Amino acid sequence: KLFDYLEKYDYENLFICQEKETGLKAVIAIHDTTLGPAVGGCRMWIYDHEDDAIEDALRLARGMTYKYAAAGINLGGGKTVIIGNPYKDKTEALFRALGRFINRLGGRYITGADVGTTMQDMEYIRTETPHIVTVPESYGGAGDIAPYTALGTFQGIKASANEIYGSDSLEGKTVLVQGLGKVGGNLIKLLTDAKAKILIADTDERLVAKYRDEYKLQVIQPELVYETECDIFAPCALGATVNDQTIDKLKCTIIAGAANNTLKEERHGEILKQKGILFAPDYIVNAGGTIFDTDRLGVSGVHNKERAVQNVLKVYDTTKTVFKIAKEKNITPMDAADLYAKKRIDELKKLRNI
Ligand code: NAD
Repeated sequence: KLFDYLEKYDYENLFICQEKETGLKAVIAIHDTTLGPAVGGCRMWIYDHEDDAIEDALRLARGMTYKYAAAGINLGGGKTVIIGNPYKDKTEALFRALGRFINRLGGRYITGADVGTTMQDMEYIRTETPHIVTVPESYGGAGDIAPYTALGTFQGIKASANEIYGSDSLEGKTVLVQGLGKVGGNLIKLLTDAKAKILIADTDERLVAKYRDEYKLQVIQPELVYETECDIFAPCALGATVNDQTIDKLKCTIIAGAANNTLKEERHGEILKQKGILFAPDYIVNAGGTIFDTDRLGVSGVHNKERAVQNVLKVYDTTKTVFKIAKEKNITPMDAADLYAKKRIDELKKLRNI
């Protein structure tokens, strides 16, 4: 029921991109361009069914609309999904073919890196189209954005602490960081400076050893993360970590991390609310990298690091605003975030008589 789904969630376009010569099989979804051109990364992944790739592109594009709207950025939501093995199927020709498709959209959709794609892939796309955001600093882009995703996540954690403990201070608070990759690793540095008591977990033993030795941190085995007592659980690895199997084990007061789609299903947000665990919506808290990355798409057209960082720091205020709405309306913070994002889009739509 593809068209029913597109209608239900107000999608604007869905493009299927195929090129026999390069083996390109991709889907570009544009959700909403009320606030500005649709922006969202390009994911490359192996999908069992083509329908799964389409669903992923659609779901992720809608998520980007809300992320930008809530962060106060004048961009819409879109996403590309390439069906393929990111370890085996990548070629310059494939990414250039995708670049040509994106170029034909004339700027309504702007792409970037995501799971399974790298800066090198982005450089190939850039040779065919200027409608791309994640490019190296030498191309006028923002460069590595993970430190800014971590900075935004740190703001979200502080706002959550303020909500529960009445102070931004993380001194002495136990923070369990799950995932020590690009974001989690950068977050460790910020939490260390804030004098938090940090617990770490990762399935990659080399990363665990690195952070344990460098920062003298206590290690938690990955399978024991959910039942470990802590003040703040910061998921920075995979999505869907709050699910039927984990939710009753949790012994934290706050969940605030960078991982996308932490709640497996909407109802898990409701259960957390009943349990008195504060959930800081992931797309609000992890918007820092995106805010930093898209700075040059603003009116000035040039990336300005100082301004971009100032905007990343605003994740604190957005998180607090969302908590305030949740409290006032007695709804989950996730529902409050959606409401906050939608309100901005709806008001603009009304003004434009759409
Ligand atoms: P990454 O791949 O660099 O790091 C993820 C880490 O999680 C890896 O070190 C991996 O070994 C670890 N991991 C995997 N399974 C685990 C498990 N079961 N238990 C513990 N650790 C496990 O990814 P990243 O770029 O740091 O992103 C982390 C999360 O944040 C992802 O969900 C991503 O979608 C989200 N995110 C990232 C950015 C960004 O700027 N990179 C922006 C927004 C959201």
